[in-house]
Amino acid sequence: MSQPHPVADAEIAGRKTVAVLGSTGSIGVNTLEVARQLTDRIRVSGLSAHRNLDLLVQQTREFNPDWIVATNESCAKKYRWPKLPGTQLLIGHDQLDQLVTDVQTQVVVAAIVGTAGLRSTLAALQAGKTVALANKETLVAAGPLVMDLAARSDATILPVDSEHNAVFQCMQSGRRSEVHRVCLTASGGPFRNFSREQMQLVTAEQALAHPTWDMGQKISIDSATMMNKALEIIEARWLFDLSPDQIEVVVHPQSIVHSLVEFVDGSVIAQMSPPDMKLPIQHALTWPDRVTGPARRMMFQDAMSLEFRPPDIGRFPAIALGLQVARQAGTAGAVLNAANEAAVAAFLDRKIGFCDIVRACQDVLQQHAFEPQPTIEQILEMDRWAREETGKWILA
Ligand code: NAD
Ligand code: MG
Repeated sequence: MSQPHPVADAEIAGRKTVAVLGSTGSIGVNTLEVARQLTDRIRVSGLSAHRNLDLLVQQTREFNPDWIVATNESCAKKYRWPKLPGTQLLIGHDQLDQLVTDVQTQVVVAAIVGTAGLRSTLAALQAGKTVALANKETLVAAGPLVMDLAARSDATILPVDSEHNAVFQCMQSGRRSEVHRVCLTASGGPFRNFSREQMQLVTAEQALAHPTWDMGQKISIDSATMMNKALEIIEARWLFDLSPDQIEVVVHPQSIVHSLVEFVDGSVIAQMSPPDMKLPIQHALTWPDRVTGPARRMMFQDAMSLEFRPPDIGRFPAIALGLQVARQAGTAGAVLNAANEAAVAAFLDRKIGFCDIVRACQDVLQQHAFEPQPTIEQILEMDRWAREETGKWILA
């Protein structure tokens, strides 16, 4: 592969240079759709993908980035790479560091799924970059360390998760000290009206068919168990420095209101838009500006109703688990996150039933040797331990 092509300063003047980690996933593809529409504002300087190398090559031909990283070494070494003039190919997960710390890179879109996204997000923050954060697992596993690193390195985290992006927007209506509480909306997923008995029998195909959002496999299952909302409670706690008592969940099946912030005077500010991840992605990429972009728009000439109701914790115990872990802090987030990743993979492999996912997480959490102020090494060790324990739980 050839060396990165020199980019004329004039060409990048006024444009943000953006590296997209996990460019072949659902968030990655939506990010590139935003970049395609906003070429006057965004230059894609780097891409990364794990297994879908055909799509990575296609994206490289279109966006002509300086670097691409194929993170799965065995897939990358078997692949017959075509010539990609002007782009340098790097192979292996560690190479993401080079991409995110490159002086040209201004914004890193963290869109790798799971704990696999932790290391590159930390590297980007340490280098003082702006991180458009989709990878919520990073904050769930290591929230205090991530926020502390961002503050020390003068890095900026802009939330891409639609609820957190909404909260970020709503918070601009008042002072931080005037926030009373935050309500995260949840669609309730495909089983929001199912009984516990019906949920025992659901298949992976049913669980993957989300009624309002089109997403990657892991987050689709998380939405069906409502573990996604549990992870988002923990994400919100660290991102906005909230007390767990200030965070509530409200079920809103239409996914139009993406979250709400209540201020001390009782005013509730909501952010609304059709369910389309291109809007929060674009918001993070163009912030503090707002520009016309490709996201779908509200059509108020069509009649519509918006419903809000409290979540049913009896049917969706993941929500209580999320609040519990948000209160516990320490290593609890890393354990919940890793146990959930392992249990979701086992459910997709048809090794456990749907309701076992949250049960496995509860049991593994109970067994863990809690550490209140873990280092990053302790978090990674806890992540490894929780996956192993979940593996034993699945076989038991
Ligand atoms: P996805 O499964 O569609 O894509 C994941 C991406 O990560 C792919 O590009 C894949 O190549 C890469 N990847 C997978 N395993 C990897 C590994 N071990 N090392 C390096 N790269 C790896 O996932 P997604 O739905 O796009 O979600 C990405 C992240 O964004 C998740 O953390 C998810 O919770 C969050 N998120 C997604 C949505 C959504 O609408 N999809 C909404 C909010 C937040
Ligand atoms: Mg979300």
